[in-house]
Amino acid sequence: MERVYNFSAGPSCLPEEVLKECAAEMLNYKGTGQSVMEMSHRSNAFEPIIQEAEAMVRKLMNVPSNYKVLFLQGGGSTQFAMVAQNLGIKNKKAAYIETGVWAKKAAAEAKKLGVEVDIIASSKDKNYSYIPRVEKIEGNYDYAYICFNNTIMGTHYEYIPETGNIPLVADISSCVLSEPLDVSKFGLVFAGAQKNLAPAGVTLVIIREDLIPEPENCLPGTPTMLCYKTHSENESMYNTPPCYIIYVLNKVLHWIEKNGGAQGMLKLNREKADYLYNFLDTSDFYHATTQRGSRSLMNVPFLTKYSNGAQDEASLAKEKEINSKFVKQAEAQGLINLKGHRLVGGMRASIYNAMTMDGVKALVTFMKKFAEEN
Ligand SMILES: *Cc1c(COP(=O)(O)O)cnc(C)c1O
Repeated sequence: MERVYNFSAGPSCLPEEVLKECAAEMLNYKGTGQSVMEMSHRSNAFEPIIQEAEAMVRKLMNVPSNYKVLFLQGGGSTQFAMVAQNLGIKNKKAAYIETGVWAKKAAAEAKKLGVEVDIIASSKDKNYSYIPRVEKIEGNYDYAYICFNNTIMGTHYEYIPETGNIPLVADISSCVLSEPLDVSKFGLVFAGAQKNLAPAGVTLVIIREDLIPEPENCLPGTPTMLCYKTHSENESMYNTPPCYIIYVLNKVLHWIEKNGGAQGMLKLNREKADYLYNFLDTSDFYHATTQRGSRSLMNVPFLTKYSNGAQDEASLAKEKEINSKFVKQAEAQGLINLKGHRLVGGMRASIYNAMTMDGVKALVTFMKKFAEEN
């Protein structure tokens, strides 16, 4: 069967080369007579894999030596709690910028754990279609929190807020290694791997060493597994890590390196996104939902002319009909997972690192044809 172009927001497509390598090594990894899936995480075969994955993250992201690189479980969502439990411990107060669902969920989790949350800026007024400009964050905050790429809304920061001594925490789940990032500007960044890095199952955390509290200094009741220290002092091997996922991650990191590293990814991603946004901006059938200057290179939500804000029953029904027709016909062409998130409506194309320019061109060709016929 032919492979499809998968525009899913996550889990998302992986480089075909990587999948082929995994397939070739599935039954017998480097002469061990076993699959990496079956190996002890303490084995001589596995330990170099996790060490190499860490070294590759350090190299590709230019991670300063006073930062720890951790491979954790529980997805990006568990980080919403861990950040609060490990960093929100002095004044029990944090600043959050509200840019959509994921930032809101993170703030809600901190609140739930007893951290006072200040929403210092929000783009709620325009349905999160832009990133608010916050040049400077000041106050007695234990940390400041941003969601760097908003997967659902399709927005992305084009600047890094200045926070002085306040550690800046960023959720980079949907943009990690899609572009160069100055890690030294942050106290902590984290990313669920299933968008740009690997299958679901591992979360990358990069944290400045001095921000890792002793377990007894975390918020009261913080479980052992949710203390960064537990993992940092055991090289992410306190308990069984998701071995196979880390093995795939390592391969994806090598693939990124081979394709020019973070800079190479940015070049490719910008080409793909420009191609798609240029089409949307010049079309009289489609339009992008996000404002220029805040647009994600990874997630591109768009609406058709039938989503014109009219709220009468007939208009809403027509809009719904067109959207589902689009998604269905696209799927028949091998362009899958283009349904928009219900909070934005319409369609969304996620074009992560592993999506090829050919995939984006095939999408635009389909979109042109669909526009002519409708
Ligand atoms: C997908 C996503 C999450 C949630 O990740 P899980 O691994 O499913 O918990 C959090 N933040 C952002 C920005 C995401 O895109």
